[in-house]
Amino acid sequence: MGFMDFLSTLVPVELLRGMGVTGGYFFRAKETVQYPEQRVEPKDRFRGLFGYDSERCIDCGLCAKACPIEIIFIADHVEVSPETGKKKKVIDRYDIDVKRCMFCGLCEQACPTEPASIWMTTKTYEAAVYERDEGLYFDKKRLHEWQGVKAFPGVKTPAEGQDPTDPLGRKPKPKPVDGDDG
Ligand code: SF4
Ligand code: SF4
Repeated sequence: MGFMDFLSTLVPVELLRGMGVTGGYFFRAKETVQYPEQRVEPKDRFRGLFGYDSERCIDCGLCAKACPIEIIFIADHVEVSPETGKKKKVIDRYDIDVKRCMFCGLCEQACPTEPASIWMTTKTYEAAVYERDEGLYFDKKRLHEWQGVKAFPGVKTPAEGQDPTDPLGRKPKPKPVDGDDG
């Protein structure tokens, strides 16, 4: 019998070691959050609810092509300007069936606009519904205005001008140039 084995017959070493671990956690800062009164801010790269900006979107369809489960539905028509004769695509439908989404982010990565016209870095995740089919089907208007969605505190809706790269508006704004009226 080794010395430690002999000692463990006299002193409950394993028990004391376990109590030490428990005691360490007892004196650490508590991590419990009293949700929903308190909310933990998601990380900057957290993929939350979609934001969509139809003004920025150029109707290229790359997001729909990139989606591995084909849950982005886009439909458009072409209008011809009577003055210039130029053709312009107008988006009639931009829907995402969010209940089937796996939040892979490939749609956002595929979007060529700067910043992206479809994005998930919204820090917002509260969109619970009692009925999934309609409740988690987001059309163009809903993706833009977020009806039924509770934005993370301090985050603007896409319709209010949320910046996909800075949803909490923390980046310093560029200083106005001398002589700039704006
Ligand atoms: S995040 Fe959702 S909508 Fe976007 S590509 Fe992935 S599965 Fe499709
Ligand atoms: S990839 Fe971006 S610009 Fe192209 S249709 Fe999708 S959201 Fe619009």
